[in-house]
Amino acid sequence: MTEMKSIARHGQGRSCVITRRACFSASHRYWLPELSADDNAARFGPCSFAPGHGHNYELIVSMAGDLDAHGMVLNLSEVKHAIRAEVTGQLDFRFLNEAWPEFDLSGPEGCLPTTEALVRTIWHRLRAHLPITALRLYEQPGLWADYLGDPMDAFLTIRTHFAAAHRLARPELSQEENEQIYGKCARPHGHGHNYLVDITVRGGIDPRTGMVCDLSALQRLVDDLVVEPFDHTFLNKDVPFFAECVPTAENIALHIADRLSTPIKAIGAHLHKVRLQESPNNAAEVYAEVPQLEMLPAVMDAVAAI
Ligand SMILES: [Zn+2]
Ligand SMILES: [Zn+2]
Repeated sequence: MTEMKSIARHGQGRSCVITRRACFSASHRYWLPELSADDNAARFGPCSFAPGHGHNYELIVSMAGDLDAHGMVLNLSEVKHAIRAEVTGQLDFRFLNEAWPEFDLSGPEGCLPTTEALVRTIWHRLRAHLPITALRLYEQPGLWADYLGDPMDAFLTIRTHFAAAHRLARPELSQEENEQIYGKCARPHGHGHNYLVDITVRGGIDPRTGMVCDLSALQRLVDDLVVEPFDHTFLNKDVPFFAECVPTAENIALHIADRLSTPIKAIGAHLHKVRLQESPNNAAEVYAEVPQLEMLPAVMDAVAAI
């Protein structure tokens, strides 16, 4: 009887993280009334075009709590209802600049509805209703923002890709020794991958532009310092750094982090993480500043794994 009871209440009181995904479609326009038409166009590019443009947003909500007697952190239909009532029901098929007063640019308090400003605003509106621990908002598959709560900065990630060949071998070792260490990857003429690169930056959100940093400047840095020099190359021969250093996924990710760290500081953000995916089966992640922040990679993984 005692055993029956303990099975029925399995896990009760133990904590768990749950995630829920919700989608909405909305439009926005980057246009500050205090700037001239030319300045808006120069600053925000095509995002300044009238009357705006839209995205299919995907929101991932992470929540934590202890299991109840029913084996749940929260009742999922209540979670669904709260997200719909507080977020998606208010934003779906709406023009974000007008949907919420936080984005009313006619007043001095309003800010542009960027991905990072939107995810922070969603946090503020949702936190009274759900025990949220992390939010992720995808504006598109290659651009998303994470928010872990006040007073944390926001995290913005852009995804890009390049194709390159490499060979894993240490010059001081024999072919046989290299094959023992690196297997097929040590074969003499190399092989190639379509690499996916996720660059995550951290920073405060500008109260007016809603941005962690100038997104197009960030994209330019990644294009100029990573994609352009690496794409369609044989890394060992064409990128001088890899003449001396074996281009494993780990070493490539570290080298990308070293190339980007200082230039990203110059545009006002901090490089937080580089994730390099070599194939669907393997990836390397470098956390550029985790020791300084005293946070664990696991904090981000709660939203990353879905
Ligand atoms: Zn947009
Ligand atoms: Zn390889």
